[in-house]
Amino acid sequence: MEQQLQGLKAEALEKIAAAANVKQLNEVRVAYLGKKGPITDLLKGMGKLPAEERPKMGALVNVVREEVTTELESRMAILEEQATREKLQKETIDITLPGRPVNVGNAHPLTRVVEEIEDLFLSMGYEIAEGPEVEKDYYNFEALNLPKGHPARDMQDSFYITDDVLLRTHTSPVQARTMIEKKGQPFKIICPGKVYRRDSDDATHSHQFTQIEGLVVGEDIRMSDLKGTLSLFAKKMFGDDREIRLRPSFFPFTEPSVEMDISCFKCGGEGCNVCKKTGWIEILGAGMVHPNVLEMAGYDSKRLTGFAFGMGPERIAMLKYGVEDIRHFYTNDTRFLQQFLRTEL
Ligand SMILES: [Zn+2]
Repeated sequence: MEQQLQGLKAEALEKIAAAANVKQLNEVRVAYLGKKGPITDLLKGMGKLPAEERPKMGALVNVVREEVTTELESRMAILEEQATREKLQKETIDITLPGRPVNVGNAHPLTRVVEEIEDLFLSMGYEIAEGPEVEKDYYNFEALNLPKGHPARDMQDSFYITDDVLLRTHTSPVQARTMIEKKGQPFKIICPGKVYRRDSDDATHSHQFTQIEGLVVGEDIRMSDLKGTLSLFAKKMFGDDREIRLRPSFFPFTEPSVEMDISCFKCGGEGCNVCKKTGWIEILGAGMVHPNVLEMAGYDSKRLTGFAFGMGPERIAMLKYGVEDIRHFYTNDTRFLQQFLRTEL
């Protein structure tokens, strides 16, 4: 019987060693240590032994069972670890795969142009003034020397809400409001904002667009101050070697009125497609504030004078970035907007 037991043990250990995975090893466990296994059978058969041999045999069976169990457990630990490792290997994340792109927002090109202009004028001591986009006819026209029936009103077809209320056609009403607010005191402001005009949208026209106007009122403000300010602006926005030229023009709220051109930043004045072969690019309108406008806002036009200028950030952005259609600014096509991600102004 003892021989039989040693034989079983050797057989069991051999099968344990040969088990290739957890499943096979469990089969070995059931086969040798289970209730119907040969070791259990041996224990059951002990009753047939002489009484004095029973304790010795019982102890022997227990030792063998103990040994087989220990061996089985240690093999089980190895196989389980192996299984875990294989599973992990199969599930490994491939860190060389490119990640999903994260969309990063950036400032709209018009916002960048407006902010750059604001920074320049803030550095010269100007304040930023804002006003309503739904405006009274009085501030939009009358206070700016454009009474009802004035022929210059035809220049700006407007969106009227009532007879007296409209979407502002320029940012000039902010100037009128500021002059009234300042009660005869000198000041320097720029007014950026959206404006609206009835226009057929095309590559260069939009029914909504952006303006920035500037207004300086004070003692002894002259045309030369205006010219110096605009020259500085042109160099800051379009390069240090920009020249400016002023041409006579007409605006109801300024006298005299001028248009400002800058020397072409692309060809340097020789003539190209950007400057339409003239060497000059029209940038903005300006002038000395009309005495009527000052008087209407309660200023003594004999004592204080001022200058004003107005420009379109769209036009500046189109020139700076070579944008050919104004509608690109408003359609929110990210393919257009993303081109300005790394553009340094
Ligand atoms: Zn040119």
